[in-house]
Amino acid sequence: MRLSFHGAVEEVTGSCFLVETKRAKVLIDAGMKQGERMCVTRSLDPFGFDVTELDAVLVTHAHFDHTGRLPELIKLGYRGPIYMTAPTKALVEIILDDALKIMAENAERCGDPTPYSADHKQLAMSLMQGLGYHTEFEAAPGIKVMFHDAGHILGSSFVSLDLEDSLTETGKPKRIIFSGDIGNDHIPILPETESIHQADVVVCESTYGDSIHEPSETRTLRLADFASKVLKRGGTLVIPAFSIERTQELLHELDIMLLEKKLPAVPIYLDSPMAIRTTEVYRHFKHYLHFDHPVLGPDQDFFSFPSLHETMSTEESKQINQDKRAKIILAGNGMMTGGRVLHHLKHHLEDPLSGVLIVGYQAAGTLGRRIFDREKTVRIYREEYQVRAEVLAIGAFSAHADKAKLLRWLHPEEGQVAKIFLVHGDNPVKDAFAKFLSKSLSAEIIIPRLSQTFEL
Ligand SMILES: [Zn+2]
Ligand SMILES: [Zn+2]
Repeated sequence: MRLSFHGAVEEVTGSCFLVETKRAKVLIDAGMKQGERMCVTRSLDPFGFDVTELDAVLVTHAHFDHTGRLPELIKLGYRGPIYMTAPTKALVEIILDDALKIMAENAERCGDPTPYSADHKQLAMSLMQGLGYHTEFEAAPGIKVMFHDAGHILGSSFVSLDLEDSLTETGKPKRIIFSGDIGNDHIPILPETESIHQADVVVCESTYGDSIHEPSETRTLRLADFASKVLKRGGTLVIPAFSIERTQELLHELDIMLLEKKLPAVPIYLDSPMAIRTTEVYRHFKHYLHFDHPVLGPDQDFFSFPSLHETMSTEESKQINQDKRAKIILAGNGMMTGGRVLHHLKHHLEDPLSGVLIVGYQAAGTLGRRIFDREKTVRIYREEYQVRAEVLAIGAFSAHADKAKLLRWLHPEEGQVAKIFLVHGDNPVKDAFAKFLSKSLSAEIIIPRLSQTFEL
């Protein structure tokens, strides 16, 4: 078997790996690299292999850095199957639609070429097959595949490939596992990450390979405390939220707090068309979710409550500013680099009664990072604003496993892993993670370079 690395090698994003056997070539993920400003031109780097020779494509989960280049495969002539879980397929469509929109805006503003068109996306969608977890299938001749729950977002998986043309010393097909992204512990709406039953080789993400997250129990308490404080003094709580997963977790936690009367019943606005569409997918696939807290309320819905307003249109969104009451506004995007959240920040950032709650990673150079760093003034649409609102960041909302969880996950139920490749992490983080793992694992730990190929 030959394994080669075509993305997410020197950095966190752009997941793309190729497995070749005597009879078949299978690609795992086709993700877009994401720069600070979602620079589209960077993704025009060649893939590094002939996409028309692929027999199948496997997708671990819907995030753009794992799926953003799927339509580009079509543009370059790929017409084979694209396998993923059923909820992933539904989420991929939302993500690719959003990407097409942003690409069109970029093309207009700065002349960036768009890497693919809506037609390529449409054709890619028609080749996608949504499967369940634990359904073994032959993705290509001699390659048996299964998706396992990674507990990272709805439908996320780590994927196992049993290679019949590549046998172990005991004569069994070699099993290679691709982690995709592994979820944090105790996400309130997701099942826990499945353990690995057995594996010979693991390609493992290392996003937080150098950190330990704060315990998840504290997050609900801190969220309730901060929200109550801001609302009681009559302010507005702005939560810049990532449309997929983080928003649904927040809605569910707010639902519970309201049912338990831990929050005043103020209006809560979900002001993001993408998040509204995503929440519908979460409702549809709720049998894939796991709710720690069984309280449902009279509406039998895990994500809504009487005071929730889903504002789909721009007109409805503008109306929110007319509402002078204490309220909560969830709006995208999560790093505050664009989207409706900017309008709400303009209205509330200078108000000392209001609050901004940061619930996700803020990349360097983004407005979110400047607010996170408590800079005194920031620029929004070329105007200066004083940051007078109270800012709180809660780290326990991370969607990724920390190093302790990854180490646990790398212990299979049966036997030991012989080789571990570390990807999906900044270089110093991967080095630290490799040292950390080698203290307690006997596996050979390898940090591959871009385009590097291994015979296994
Ligand atoms: Zn992810
Ligand atoms: Zn990822």
